[in-house]
Amino acid sequence: MWGKFAKQLLKSKVLRCSVSEKVQRSSHFPSECFLQSIRCQHQAGVLLEELAAPSVAMIQNVEALSVDRFLRVHWEDGNQSLYPFVWLRDNCQCPECFLHSAKARKLPIENLDVDTGIGDVKLTNSKKVSITWPDAHHSEFHAHWLKKRCFSKRSRTEMQEELFLPEHLYWGSNLDIPTMSYDDILNNDQSAYNWLCALKKVGIVLLEGAPIKQGELVNLGKRIGYMRLTFYGYTWQVQDKVDANNVAYTAGKLSLHTDYPAIQYPPGVQFLHCLKQAKTGGESVVVDGFHVCQRLREQNPEAFRILTSTQIDFTDTGVDYCDFALQSKHSIIELDPNGSLLRINFNNATRDSVLNITAEQVQPFYSSLKEFVSLMNQPENTFCYKMKPGQVVTFDNWRILHGRRSYQSGTDISRHLEGSYLDWDVVLSRMRNLKKKLQPDN
Ligand SMILES: [Zn+2]
Repeated sequence: MWGKFAKQLLKSKVLRCSVSEKVQRSSHFPSECFLQSIRCQHQAGVLLEELAAPSVAMIQNVEALSVDRFLRVHWEDGNQSLYPFVWLRDNCQCPECFLHSAKARKLPIENLDVDTGIGDVKLTNSKKVSITWPDAHHSEFHAHWLKKRCFSKRSRTEMQEELFLPEHLYWGSNLDIPTMSYDDILNNDQSAYNWLCALKKVGIVLLEGAPIKQGELVNLGKRIGYMRLTFYGYTWQVQDKVDANNVAYTAGKLSLHTDYPAIQYPPGVQFLHCLKQAKTGGESVVVDGFHVCQRLREQNPEAFRILTSTQIDFTDTGVDYCDFALQSKHSIIELDPNGSLLRINFNNATRDSVLNITAEQVQPFYSSLKEFVSLMNQPENTFCYKMKPGQVVTFDNWRILHGRRSYQSGTDISRHLEGSYLDWDVVLSRMRNLKKKLQPDN
């Protein structure tokens, strides 16, 4: 659905008010104006329930289907949900079965009767289902809790979207890069939430006004949680270095790549903080890799099939934080078990000469990769910008390919970016907690 809106949206700033009401409501992506309207209503003393709270779930009646071992819930809105007995028993919320301080299950599978029947079912005030099990154990489930865990396809999809925010807004050369104040996102929770939502959905956000000093990224990392340590350290300095241990540490052109496919679990998010910029050259280039993958899938399904199914070796060897000799294997385009795009793993510098495919598979692999790279380099797919000192670009390293134009380097350091990585687990965790803080009723 987002694909349809993408072109229209990207003609204007992503975080401005041009996002249609329909788009805001159908996603978990708050536009700036949407959040502003929430703030205004809050100040005006208007209750936020209408915007933030889910509809209150009320139950008309419940029935136990003993043969199929389902509890059927009839909702007051006319819908029905089925809950397997075994799942209800497994998720009993009583203190004996569930440790509320850890929000974690205590009941071990060893003690779970997976073929359990049901003793007695009662409904209280349309809001609470009480179950007595054949062994006299007692469980209570609230309507709202049950409703959120309904097993219908639609409910499960909604819940997955809420948990993982899988929607992407594709872009090309028409990207109007979302730009936010560094200070705001450090000090204002709504700004921080906006930032991370845009990072997830658009894949790239530029922050402005960061202090121009090495080490500042540590504060940004702490705003989210913690940074990912790699063999290049917690943060690393992108500058022209003598005897560079990485092609990034030169003044040369860097073709489009994702960082660190040489590790088995490449970092999800990358920060690059500009401390000094070259007078000539040094422009950054980014591409929405998922958008390009989608186009490759349409234009050349065979190339797409080869790049999603061929395991390629990557290697990275050297000394930095400590000595390293990395080997990994990835498909260049990685899909999840549902066939959706999960990650792009492509860095031509660290793609190994070792290739564990047959001699006959080699030429088709190169032809497919060439086609993918040609597509990502097409002018309508690339977005070019030149970072200024004090800017921090934050982007999805699983989706966005980035590169750099060469620059003139003299005897002094003429260009200096400091970089760091975070994992999506950490970023999404912060997003969920910010959301909970900003919308406590939801
Ligand atoms: Zn229990």
